[in-house]
Amino acid sequence: MSFSHLGLSDKVLSAIEAAGYKTPTPIQEQAIPQVLARRDVLGIAQTGTGKTAAFVLPMLTMLEQGRARARMPRTLILEPTRELAAQVAEQFEKYGKNHKLNVALIIGGVSFGDQDSKLLRGVDVLIATPGRLLDHSERGRLLLSGCELLIIDEADRMLDMGFIPDIERIGKLVPFTRQTLFFTATMPPEIQHIADTFLHNPARVEVSRPATTAATITQLLVATGREDYEKRDTLRRLIRSADNFKNAIVFCNRKREVATLLRSLQRHNFNAVALHGDMDQPARMAALDRFKKGEADLLIASDVAARGLDIPDVSHVFNFDVPHHPDDYVHRIGRTGRAGKSGTAITIVAPSDQKSLGAIERLTGQSIKWADGPPPDDTAAAPQDESRGRGRGRQRGGRGRSRDTRSADSHQPREQSRSAPRQEAEPRTETAAKPAGKPARPSAKPGRGGGEQRQPQHDEPDTSHLPAFLLRPVSIKA
Ligand code: AMP
Repeated sequence: MSFSHLGLSDKVLSAIEAAGYKTPTPIQEQAIPQVLARRDVLGIAQTGTGKTAAFVLPMLTMLEQGRARARMPRTLILEPTRELAAQVAEQFEKYGKNHKLNVALIIGGVSFGDQDSKLLRGVDVLIATPGRLLDHSERGRLLLSGCELLIIDEADRMLDMGFIPDIERIGKLVPFTRQTLFFTATMPPEIQHIADTFLHNPARVEVSRPATTAATITQLLVATGREDYEKRDTLRRLIRSADNFKNAIVFCNRKREVATLLRSLQRHNFNAVALHGDMDQPARMAALDRFKKGEADLLIASDVAARGLDIPDVSHVFNFDVPHHPDDYVHRIGRTGRAGKSGTAITIVAPSDQKSLGAIERLTGQSIKWADGPPPDDTAAAPQDESRGRGRGRQRGGRGRSRDTRSADSHQPREQSRSAPRQEAEPRTETAAKPAGKPARPSAKPGRGGGEQRQPQHDEPDTSHLPAFLLRPVSIKA
């Protein structure tokens, strides 16, 4: 099958040729004709499958007819993070180079003024994160009543980040008669429910099982001690001894750990940059840019900031922390071994990580090899953190979770008056909040190995994004 059989316009076909793509990927082959036939589409596909082009290419073809009116975008694409939104905008630049379309990026962390003047000029394609979009709409700067096509991308990620109430509100602002494309990597019941409310008789297109890891990725485990300094020491050793090392993304579970690890690596003369939700937008873009251009060898990242990013040619992924949720593992290691290239993913495993590791192996259906042999007596050495797996579930549809990225923005019209300052939602943080003002953990609790000054940060939930009322101490009657 070639692109010319899908019904795309000549302008789009020549942009595809210029991009060097020969054949459509399976999701493109299945979705593009359905989109062009103006059908709603439910696309079940991960990033890396070519799903962005699966909606960008037919959109470009369809937008060749008609023109935009002030403040009334013709199409709307919703993305969970600023980086993903920026990445989609880049694809419009790449494939839309033969078109004269106005594409606007409406994301948190950048000034309202510039976005407002873009909206005023008339927008063919609006790419937005949900919170900032609603802010513009509530200020009366944006009318969605002319929107012919709505795209909800990474819907399961939106759910994890608590954006579903915002998405539902946006759904009421766009015309009922619009066409809707809905993309998700996984299909839990909550997502099925939302898909049912948003889509009318959709064509379902599905490519590859969500929990599969690419065969091009060599996966390894490396045992380490439980202290942070031991983990950092292990990481440095692994980076220095890595075969065919070009560059690496290092994943941490918490944004605080990202900052600590960055400082430590820089002190050890590694050329590293960081990407996490507390950084402002220009700093995030600058870090990503330096890494993409090869000016930095290491990108230290949290899941929310890095999910779905398309960075070609990453030779290694290191999991500094084992992710608490197994599907994050699949997404993390999928940053390497892309487009048929080989890659290596190495996970640093502390004694208390056994349970999370078991969940990953169950999800991926494979047991991952220990690079230096399994740790001695690893189950005995792994007192399971009792809180893990109890009350630490994924925050599905978490009402009241933060809007995207407002903390980075000086214009916070509603949040400041309504609730505690918001931060970018880091995904799947613990639901059991610590009482405010208490020490991070009981100091009397003895650590393993005697004489420890403190327990590892790994077990400390990051509650910085939670509204203040959730952090108030509660008394529970016996
Ligand atoms: P995505 O899944 O949208 O993140 O795309 C992953 C990568 O695949 C991006 O770098 C695209 O530029 C690339 N890509 C998209 N479509 C094709 C295609 N038909 N052939 C080769 N590469 C593609």
